[in-house]
This record gives sequence, C-alpha cells and structure tokens, in this order.
Amino acid sequence: MQYFLITLGCQMNLSDGERIHTVLKGMGLQQAPSEEEAQVVGIIACSVRQKAIDKVYNQIARWNREKNHRNLITFISGCILPDDRERFLKLFDLVFPMSEVIALPDMIRSSGIVTPASLKISDKDLSTSGIPVNENIFSLWNIEPEYQSEYEAFVPIQNGCNKFCTFCAVPYTRGREVSRPAIDILGQVKELISQDYKTITLLGQNVNSYGLDKADKEISFAQLLKKVGEAALESGKECWIYYTSPHPKDMNEEVIDVMATYPHLANQVHLPMQSGDDKILVKMNRNHSMERYRNLVTSIRENLPEATLFTDIIVGFTGETEAQHLNTAVAMEEFEFNMAYVAQYSPRPGAASYRWEDTVSREVKKERLHQLNEILERTASAHNAKTRGKVVRVLVTGNGRKPGYMKGLTEGKINIRFQASQLGLTGSFVDVRVTGSNGLSLEGELVPVKIDSLVVD
Ligand code: SF4
Repeated sequence: MQYFLITLGCQMNLSDGERIHTVLKGMGLQQAPSEEEAQVVGIIACSVRQKAIDKVYNQIARWNREKNHRNLITFISGCILPDDRERFLKLFDLVFPMSEVIALPDMIRSSGIVTPASLKISDKDLSTSGIPVNENIFSLWNIEPEYQSEYEAFVPIQNGCNKFCTFCAVPYTRGREVSRPAIDILGQVKELISQDYKTITLLGQNVNSYGLDKADKEISFAQLLKKVGEAALESGKECWIYYTSPHPKDMNEEVIDVMATYPHLANQVHLPMQSGDDKILVKMNRNHSMERYRNLVTSIRENLPEATLFTDIIVGFTGETEAQHLNTAVAMEEFEFNMAYVAQYSPRPGAASYRWEDTVSREVKKERLHQLNEILERTASAHNAKTRGKVVRVLVTGNGRKPGYMKGLTEGKINIRFQASQLGLTGSFVDVRVTGSNGLSLEGELVPVKIDSLVVD
C-alpha cells in the first residue's frame, strides 16, 4: 500500500509533515512517487491564504471523483478553521488535528470512512469555542521526523499563538501557545548537528514567547537560544542556526546579546513589522509601537552589524489611509530591510478583521505594494552592492538555471548564484567571491579550495 502527502503553507507544516511520513511508514506504507499510485492520500492544510484553501477543495473534489473507480482513503490535518473543518468532515474520510497524528494508523485501519473514533478524537481536541486546545501536541513532537532534506532541518519549539492579531486566523487553527520541553529541543538539535546538518531552524508561531506558557518551569527563549549556541560551539561543526518568527513585542536585548555571542546563531533576523503606522498597529492588535520596533532595529544593527534584517508587511489593511501607508514607506526607507515580504491585505475567514469592511481598493493596494517593493529593491541592492569583491560563505542549495551555475544562500539568507564546474556540491558550504549584485540577489564565482598541493574548483 502506498501513500501520497501534499503539504501546503509554512515551514511549521513542513516540519509536521515530516512526522506524518514517519507515522505512515511506521504502519508499513510506502511513499508513492505520484498521487495516482497511492491508496492513502492526505493534505496538510494552510488557512492563511484563500488560494491554499481553494486548492484543498479542488483536490478533494478530484479525489472523491476518483473514488468511483478505485479505492482511496483521504485525510486532512494542519491549520483548519472551525467552519472549514465542518465542511471537510463531509468531504474527507479522516479529519484530525495534528496533535492526534499518533492515532492516524488506527483511523486508517478502521476502514477509512469518518469513524466514530476519528470524530471522537477530533471533538475532544477542541474547546467549546472550537479552538484547538493542543494538549496532545507533545505526542506529535515525540515522533521521530523523516527529514525531507539531508542538510536543512526544522525543529519545532512551540505551537500556537496567544497574540490574536486582527488579520490572522492562526490562533483559531493552531490554538494557544504551547512550548516544547527544552531538553527535547536540545536533544534534537544535537542529533542534527552530529548528523552534519548545515542549517537548523527553530520553529514556532511566536518563538520568542517560548516558555511563557510554563512560567518558572521552563527556560526563556534567550536561555534556550544560548544552550543551542553552546551545543553547536562544543560540536566544532559548521552549522547555521536560525529561528522564525519572533514577535516585536517579545523580542529583547537578551536575545540579541546571545546572537552576538554564539557564532553558530546565524546573522539573520526576521522581524515582522506589518505596518509603519502606530494607529494601524493598534488596529492590527500588534501590541507594540513603532518606537519599540525602531529601538529593536537600532539594537540589531549596532550589536549584529553583519546580520540581514527581513520583515513582513501588509499593505491596504482595512482603513489604511494614504498618510498611514506613507508612514510604512518612510519606515522602510529608514530600516533598509534586506528582504521584505509585502502582501496585499485580504480578509481571512476566521480572523477578527473579516467582519470589517475591506475599504482599500485592489488598485490602491497594488500601487502601495509596488511602491514598497521599489523601496526594498533600492535599499537591499545598496546593501548587496557593498559585498562586491568580498568572499562570502555559501550553503549550496542546487543547480542554477543556467548550465555551469549553482545556487545557494549566504548566512544572511541572500540568494547567490555562482559559476561552478564541480558536481555534488549541493548541501555543502563553499566560499564564493561576489562579483556583482542583481537587485535582491548576488552573483559570484567559486573560490578554489586548496587540498595539500591540489587545487579543486
Ligand atoms: S503573532 Fe499575530 S500574525 Fe503571528 S501567528 Fe500570532 S496572531 Fe498570527
């Protein structure tokens, strides 16, 4: 029997998916090369974008049509809004929260229809308001993941969110914040380093509120990061350790100090700004001011001068005036982000702002997005241009589109492509001399490595 798994959305879903692979293989299923060859097919859903939810509905309609001429068991888990969950129960054979993945083999064995067992499991994992209570998330974390890459790994440190930003549905799909025990996180990180993984990313919806749900019983995020940094240093191996995403409200000097102290903690910070206007930040329920954000950026630039700074921004949030948008544009000029993921606001079912009128027209949102991307292009290019002539360490991620070229990422997660005649470099660190920059990315040439009297390029 073979299975096929479709993972939509963020790195957290990817990490959860690695544990589903383990569970399915543990019951003797093989991974199918294509969905047509599988008898068990599943989706890890994302509710952040409407596109992803549309994809789920299209996919299940196709699978249900196929059931007319072949046996198929369908399942869905991941980030699912309460309303969608009700609809999915009628469409999929199995609908379960990620925290119940451990029971998936039993659900599949019980004939592959919506069984009393699966319904019971789903219901007990929801509070009366329909929000996941996350009690069993530990059983998911205890499953050994089947890593989908040999050099890049994700380590969940926390699940859920207590912030309730008005544009976001995550607190309703993943439930409240739950921190994974530090001892388990450290164990997984040490194991990955010993297996020569080159990048490790600590994952959570709000990584820097790590431990707050277990006051006095768990260490803080800064202390966790310190222990991870110490473990990596002791290993003597080369490895870049990232974390995503922190929230400006909980980001602090201690975290920045730890990053500055431990060399394996990578020089890259992704700090979502969302808007550069205080009134819009209040409307978004972000719970921090621009003054706080500015102080954090100043500290990051002073204490981590080599670090790149990434952000997320939403343009055209409901009620955003031209003047408020200009405040975001001014902030972007000021902070000179190395990368910004700018999105046009669209109301998400399940989020608080879904009930509010979407006042900014599509054309205006498009124009605002274009303006911010132009600023990004200018400031990021200026940073990139400064690296011309320098030798940078690069993690090779694969072949470039052009023959004779490979692509990779710098420690600051800037894309770079470089000429290389050597094969088999993917997943290794190399030195690359930067010869130019092209907007948001870099170009370079491989620096030959000397092995005794041999020169290898
Ligand atoms: S911090 Fe805000 S945007 Fe991030 S997951 Fe929580 S509610 Fe969503």
